[in-house]
Amino acid sequence: KIHNKHIIAWLERCSVYMSEQQDFLTNLDRDIGDADHGLNMNRGFTAVEAILPEIERQHIGNILKNTGMKLLSSVGGASGPLYGTLFIRASAAVGVRTELSFAEWLDCLQEGISAVVARGKAEQGDKTLCDVWVPVLHAAKVNLQSGMSESELLRTMEQDAVTAVNNTINMQAKKGRASYLGARSVGHQDPGATSSWLMIKAMQEGFT
Ligand code: ADP
Ligand code: MG
Ligand code: MG
Repeated sequence: KIHNKHIIAWLERCSVYMSEQQDFLTNLDRDIGDADHGLNMNRGFTAVEAILPEIERQHIGNILKNTGMKLLSSVGGASGPLYGTLFIRASAAVGVRTELSFAEWLDCLQEGISAVVARGKAEQGDKTLCDVWVPVLHAAKVNLQSGMSESELLRTMEQDAVTAVNNTINMQAKKGRASYLGARSVGHQDPGATSSWLMIKAMQEGFT
């Protein structure tokens, strides 16, 4: 079962990773973008961390909604509205619950990422953060149905995310700033896919 404290622990880990990996994310974005992704993500999750004491006792849906609104207002760039959408739409799927099964949690994330795809119009292989979330959530659902334990599932999600990030290296960007580079975007790891991997790694640690 997933409770408030798991979500809070996840968001705290996200904040730690975005600050630790700020330069790494920004350097990836220097190669194929405008060298601000680490800055954007660190600003966003620092702002989220600051409101956690106020929101940690709320329903899971409210925690996710407040997180999404903070990301929306503080991250900026292309990734701010997209990550904001992920959390806000997931929060709508959670509603006022204080406890979720792992299957329900995956469904909520799936709702969130579907909204991100609808908003950003990225297809699989377009070299975006969707190239991490879509395959990872798909595999997680299949693994859950085949009876994998939650801890094994979280570990597998993180491993799948690593693979998915590496797969973005050979993709040509079709969305966002990196797409302006055309074929020159090939050979570089996508910054947003990388921050998404960090969020999934943070989930594994925060939930266990
Ligand atoms: P900006 O490009 O505005 O500076 P960021 O650097 O914070 O914004 O984020 C760039 C990341 O956003 C990219 O690496 C990519 O993963 C993601 N991204 C950009 N456009 C889209 C889109 N249409 N759909 C999904 N993700 C996108
Ligand atoms: Mg950028
Ligand atoms: Mg920018």
